[in-house]
Amino acid sequence: MGQQLSCVASQEHGELFTAVQFGELEIVKIMLDRDPSLLHQTTVYDRQSPLHIAAANGQIEILSMLLERSVDPDIVNRHKQTPLMLAAMHGKISCLKMLIEAGANILKFDSLNGRTCLHYAAYYGHSDCLQVILSTAQSSPVAASWGYARFVNIRDGRGATPLHLAARQKRPECVHILLDNGALVCASTGGYGCPGSTPLHLAARGGSLDCIRELLAWGADRLQRDASGRIPYGVALRHKHPNCAALLNPSSAEPLVWPSPLKFISELNQEAKGLLERALMKANREREKSIFKGSSTCSDHSPQIADAEVDDNASEVSDTELCCICFEQVCTIEVQDCGHQMCAHCTLALCCHNKPNPTTASVTPPVCPFCRSTIARLVVARVKISEDAADESLGGFGSPKLRKSWKSRNLSEGSSSFKGLSANLGSFGKMGGRGSGRIAAENEWMDKPCQ
Ligand SMILES: [Zn+2]
Ligand SMILES: [Zn+2]
Repeated sequence: MGQQLSCVASQEHGELFTAVQFGELEIVKIMLDRDPSLLHQTTVYDRQSPLHIAAANGQIEILSMLLERSVDPDIVNRHKQTPLMLAAMHGKISCLKMLIEAGANILKFDSLNGRTCLHYAAYYGHSDCLQVILSTAQSSPVAASWGYARFVNIRDGRGATPLHLAARQKRPECVHILLDNGALVCASTGGYGCPGSTPLHLAARGGSLDCIRELLAWGADRLQRDASGRIPYGVALRHKHPNCAALLNPSSAEPLVWPSPLKFISELNQEAKGLLERALMKANREREKSIFKGSSTCSDHSPQIADAEVDDNASEVSDTELCCICFEQVCTIEVQDCGHQMCAHCTLALCCHNKPNPTTASVTPPVCPFCRSTIARLVVARVKISEDAADESLGGFGSPKLRKSWKSRNLSEGSSSFKGLSANLGSFGKMGGRGSGRIAAENEWMDKPCQ
């Protein structure tokens, strides 16, 4: 008889969970009104609650109705997974938001791998969910009790941070967001993957060029070894990702690194940041061309032809819009509050003097090369140029637009500051133009004490 009863009960179950899964709101309501105890039923094996099923399937109306009936938003299944984790896993952004609004805890760990909802969003590549969780962390008690940086670098049971998982699963967008939010680019795993793997090792394992580009641009070290002594290059070779290996080969030209001081300039204008980021990535793409050319037999690109074409356009932009440091690029970035302008190329050079130090967050803020005041803010310079010209000027490094000879230029406004700077500006010569690898490792003039 007991068997018969449980058989009936599990049939009811089945119907309830199917109705939740397929979003049959009215049916679910009728069932719950008839038997409110169903609200606390779970599936037989995984012990998923109706709230879990609704979150995993993106059934927002049912989710909302269940929360109104005061179901605990942090109810857990057999693996201690919360509905929030399932929403992050399946990329159900509206359910994720609703659960967070209902007070779901973003700092819960499951018992399967000791992962949080942030790990799940990164692993499955749901960058929208990732972003929402990170913004929540910034404004929630988590930031106060745990510290935001610690949350971003939260480790699972085997020592993997969300960045490790995103790199391994080939999720470049998530890699980018995490790095932008302070994820440590050189962190080693404990036991995840090969012990001691960095995100770069895992990206090499997964074979994602875009993840590797992101990580390198944020200062990932190609020479860092895992516990068995392998560098990412060896991992890429072993797993037969030749293009990844070409970028990771320690003997190929080093990429430009997104300057860490820039990341910390207060109120860095999103537009300006995007501009600098695009300039950096484009410069690195130019660099890759020669790397890939070197690693294959085909050589159909001719840089000379490209340069010639660029030079033909030189007359489009007038002298007054040229950057007073390099006299090659158009000014696209304005320093505030002094209002001095320079190109994205030189702005990067200014701030690129050091690879980010993975162990500290402290950085020396860069100063304006014209007036030596600390740069508080960078914004996009408002100059009247056609969109085409502006777009090309972003590329900067690989294809310097405009003329190289600036001697004829009338140095009226910029001349005095340029002379003052010239003693310190030796290294700007090295970073210029075509094919120069990374610009500013040797650029130490920023470190000199201010007069
Ligand atoms: Zn410049
Ligand atoms: Zn200035």
